[in-house]
Amino acid sequence: MDEWMCGPNFLHLNEQEWPVDKATIDQKHENLERRKTQTVLVINMTVTPIECERFSKWRKLVRVTAYVFRYVQILKSKLMKASIPEDDVTLTPAELEKAEHYWTKEAQKGLKSRFEKGEFKTLTPFLDNKGIIRVGGRVENLVTSYESKHPALLPASHHIALLITRHVHEIGHPGVETTTAKTRRKFWILQGHRLAKTVKHRCVKCRSAECKRETQKMADWPSSRLAPHTPPFYYTSCDYFGPFQVKVGRNKRAKHYGVIFTCLNTRAVHLEIATDCSTMEFLHVLRRFFAVRGQPAQILSDNGTQFVGAQRELREMISGWSEDELKDFCAEKRVQWKFITPGAPHQNGCAESLVKSAKIAIKKAIGFSVYGRL
Ligand SMILES: [Zn+2]
Repeated sequence: MDEWMCGPNFLHLNEQEWPVDKATIDQKHENLERRKTQTVLVINMTVTPIECERFSKWRKLVRVTAYVFRYVQILKSKLMKASIPEDDVTLTPAELEKAEHYWTKEAQKGLKSRFEKGEFKTLTPFLDNKGIIRVGGRVENLVTSYESKHPALLPASHHIALLITRHVHEIGHPGVETTTAKTRRKFWILQGHRLAKTVKHRCVKCRSAECKRETQKMADWPSSRLAPHTPPFYYTSCDYFGPFQVKVGRNKRAKHYGVIFTCLNTRAVHLEIATDCSTMEFLHVLRRFFAVRGQPAQILSDNGTQFVGAQRELREMISGWSEDELKDFCAEKRVQWKFITPGAPHQNGCAESLVKSAKIAIKKAIGFSVYGRL
């Protein structure tokens, strides 16, 4: 209220003691002239005489380019009134090479700035006397062509990289790795492996050659394979394998056989040895098996006719079996014996595959040495 009635305090002081206003005006900006400015954008467009995107074959692109160069050469010669080169129908290797170099340089236009910045150091690139960026490397002393020693660097995004990869792939339709390796005989395409993968994946011939064929629908599992709550070896499959040479005396050798028992549910394995081919010996084997593992409810085995294509010894042995004797023995023990259907060895595939594993294990443990008395 005091200030309202009497004014600000500094007015009561002498004028020299009044506070000084230090506000300054930036005269530079204040007096700046405002003019209309005009911006002009200049786009430098170079029109290429041939559009490579319109070609789907590398060979055709190179040949067309070579013919265009030849036509330009003829026009130039006419203008200069020089002698016109002979009009040969077929293209010369030099003309084709010139066309290839032209497209290589066209593709490398986008790489020039990156090359000057020092990218691709791992490839040790250099500029050759024709102005093409080539890959260096440590194979200077290799006895091969200059182009395969120093392939030209190409960006994968340019259309000719795709054409070259496709051209290489279509000779024999090799896999991704081979396509990449063959491409690198002349051109080093950045991310060429990925490009080769794309080409291979899109190739119609490769897709039709490598398509998956329809397979037979597998039948349901037999009930004996699907009894998880039964004891081990309740459902058992058995098979013979061998023979193995065994030393039985000072200078005498005999053939012994391996017998494999496998549980159809747990795939547990029990191995026994049969010293000869008789039915009696097999019954001994069975007794030993029952004594250790208990009596199974069902045993599945091959039958005589099953061994038509098998080893002679095994075939003779099984044909010597008395099926009735076996069945009688098992019936007494309350064991059901089942022979698989003739001509269907896959029905006992469970045992067959484990025979293979057992044989490999025995071979690794013993090798080619003759076994002693087992
Ligand atoms: Zn292919």
